[in-house]
This record gives sequence, C-alpha cells and structure tokens, in this order.
Amino acid sequence: MVKAVVGACWGDEGKGKITDMLAADADIVVRFQGGANAGHTIVNDYGKFALHLLPSGSFNQNVTNVIGNGVALDIEQLVNEIEEVVSKGVPRPNIVVSERAQVLMPYHRLFDSYEEERLSDRQFGSTKSGIAPFFSDKFSKIGFQVWELFEEDRLREKIKNVLEVKNLMLEHIYHKPLLDADELYATCKRYAEMIKPYVIDSVKFMHDAVKEGKTILLEGQLGSLKDPDFGIYPMTTSSSTLAGYGAIGAGVPPYEIKEIITVVKAYSSAVGAGAFVSEIFGDEADELRRRGGDGGEFGATTGRPRRMGWFDCVASRYGCRVQGTTAVAFTVLDVLGYLDEIPVCVGYEVDGEVIRDFPTTGKLEKAKPVFKVLPGWKSDIRGITKYEDLPENCRNYIEFIEKELEVPIKIVSNGPARQDIIMR
Ligand code: GDP
Repeated sequence: MVKAVVGACWGDEGKGKITDMLAADADIVVRFQGGANAGHTIVNDYGKFALHLLPSGSFNQNVTNVIGNGVALDIEQLVNEIEEVVSKGVPRPNIVVSERAQVLMPYHRLFDSYEEERLSDRQFGSTKSGIAPFFSDKFSKIGFQVWELFEEDRLREKIKNVLEVKNLMLEHIYHKPLLDADELYATCKRYAEMIKPYVIDSVKFMHDAVKEGKTILLEGQLGSLKDPDFGIYPMTTSSSTLAGYGAIGAGVPPYEIKEIITVVKAYSSAVGAGAFVSEIFGDEADELRRRGGDGGEFGATTGRPRRMGWFDCVASRYGCRVQGTTAVAFTVLDVLGYLDEIPVCVGYEVDGEVIRDFPTTGKLEKAKPVFKVLPGWKSDIRGITKYEDLPENCRNYIEFIEKELEVPIKIVSNGPARQDIIMR
C-alpha cells in the first residue's frame, strides 16, 4: 500500500507532523523530490526538530527511510542531520540512499548565490541551497549519480569535463574564482566514504517492498503551487512537488499510489517571492505570523519571516486537484482561535471578472481577492480529540472549506504535537 503525503499550496502546511504521525504505521518513508532547501518541523517525545533531508519517519525504529532517486542529495547535510538527531537522544534512524540519486555539489550552492547576485533586484528569493543549478545540471546531463562517486577513473574524467563549462561561466559571466578539478575530486572521494554505508539499489528495494505489501509513505516537500509545471512559474521550485512524481522520484508503479493525503493549512503562508492573492500585511499579518505554526511562522530552513494570508479556496482547491487528492489533512486550525471573524478568499477578481479556477501567473499577478467572512469560535481547541467536541463555528469553518475543496477533510490537526489530531 503506497500513500503520498503532499502539500496543497506554498509549503509549510505541516506535512512533517502528518508524516511523522502516519509513520507510526508505516514500514517505509521515502523522500522523492526536492532537497535540503525546505524544512519540516517535527515535535515529538524526543523534542523539536527541523529536518531538511531526513525523511519524517526517522524517529520510528520500525521505519526504513529512503532518500529516493528524485532527491537533490546534499551528502554533508544528510550526514550532519543524522548525527544531530542521534546527539539529541534519538535512536540511530534507518536510512538508505538510492544509488541513482544525484549528488548536490558545493558549486551548486555557489552558482545559486552568484546567479541571485547577478539578478540583483530581479532575484527569485532562492534559499541558495543550490537546488536550481542542481536540477539544471541533472537535466543537462552533467549531474553525478551516487554510484559515479565510486568509479574513480570515470569520475576524474567527468569532473574535468564538467568543470570546463563551469569555469567558463565563472570566468565570463560571474567573474568569480575558478574551480579546481583535484580539489573537487578529493571532495567527491570524501562524499563517497560518507555515503557508502547507506547506498542501495532503491529500484529493487521499492519493487520488493511493494510486492511484499509493505506500507510505504511518499513524503513531498513544498506544495502544489511550487510545482514547476502547475505552480506559480517561474516562482516555483525546480523539481515536481506532486504525488504523481512520487512514482518517478521513489520508483514505484503509479497505480500503486492508492491514497494521496494533501495537507492544507487553515490559513495561508508563503516564503519567497511570487503572487499571493490572499496576502495580508501590517498588524493583521504580524499577529497571525506571531501566533502561527508552533512558535511563529518563520522558515524552518532559513528563519525568514513567512508571508501571511487568509485561507485561499481558489488556490487550495486547485492545489488539491493537481495532487489528485483522496483525503485532506487540515492543519494548524488551533491558531485561528483568537479571531472574532475569519475572512476566507473564495474568488479572484481579474479584469473585472470573478474566477474560481486558479489561473496562469500573468492573470494571477493581477488578481484581487474576493473574501467571504466567517464567524470565529474564540476559544482554544487544543486538547480536543473528537470532532463533535469542536465549537460549532469551528466545525462550520471546516465544513465550509471542505465544500470549497471538493475533497473530504479526514484529518484535523489542532496543535503541533503528534497527539493533537482529530480523525473524522
Ligand atoms: P512542513 O514543511 O509542511 O512540514 O511544514 P513546517 O514544519 O515547516 O511548518 C509547520 C509548522 O506548524 C511547524 O512548526 C509545526 O510544528 C507546526 N504545526 C503543524 N501542525 C500544527 C497544528 O495543527 N497546530 C499548530 N499550532 N502548529 C502546527
């Protein structure tokens, strides 16, 4: 049984918590795309953790955590993260890495910074983790799969060829110091030693797991609106954030993905630049940011303050649709308990016309939010475990949004901890 846990919007929906919770009954958790550029926050019995590359099943000894072939593998980051959780008392997680995953090189980070510097005020707001240069190289076929680190002669030759073009760019476009082939070779050898204990043939591993009927969770990073095809291009990430891509990035047959649990947050937040129709500003935004998430809405990887907004039905419905959602996990609902009234964006006004279908970026940038105001419930809902025990206005809020999403909300999250959960 393969399930995917993915985000509906811009990311930070609380996927980490939902995956950590579902991992209790899983055999395998797979990261299938992205890299260390975003983070999941997980609060459990061991403490609070910001994971970047480690799959969210890392706190469960019964789970094998897979870094799938679709991931941008930052070897140093992965090994540091493993050591960090172990140093905080977590039993050493079971981690395996696909031999087909590609390796994020130190120069990918450099090129990411240099390009943002070149773009100056037109920059993308990259986290500078090297993700865009990494995926450019992957599709330009000058990336390095993990297995290549172990083939010495071939590796030397390839480094020489790749650096030829990299150094031309460094010299003529960015005017930065050139890269040295021997130094990069030594780095690759170091990476090889670091990653060796984890490397497996993940294609066979996943095939066998599916055949044996194992419970497999595919864990997505970011959300639908950051998908390079369906998101707010070009203000997107560089690998697909969709459950469908899980088939590729993890290596499972597409028809085996039976459940697609899309995580939807009870209000909106976004990091980085790009259109954000239901965005709010000033004191209203500051208050929501301060009360949001678990200790405020600040990026788990970057610490940047997140942009805040009211719930966006147009974006979230679309986000669920492109994921192929079978069930929604509705999160961070407890945060809204302070509001007398809660605006919800139900349409976009574009050139004098109100639309309900999420448009392409040009129209999106012109869109003005159409809000409907729902009554608040003015109470703390943390600790409630049964749906019927939620205040009436809170249930009305959930049910209004469920109708808008056109998919059932089956999980409600009313706090950051594992047990803060209501199943419907
Ligand atoms: P992810 O990348 O989708 O996993 O999202 P993040 O972990 O970056 O952001 C979600 C934040 O909200 C984290 O700080 C979580 O601990 C927190 N969180 C998750 N679910 C809830 C919830 O139901 N209520 C509250 N208050 N915080 C939550």
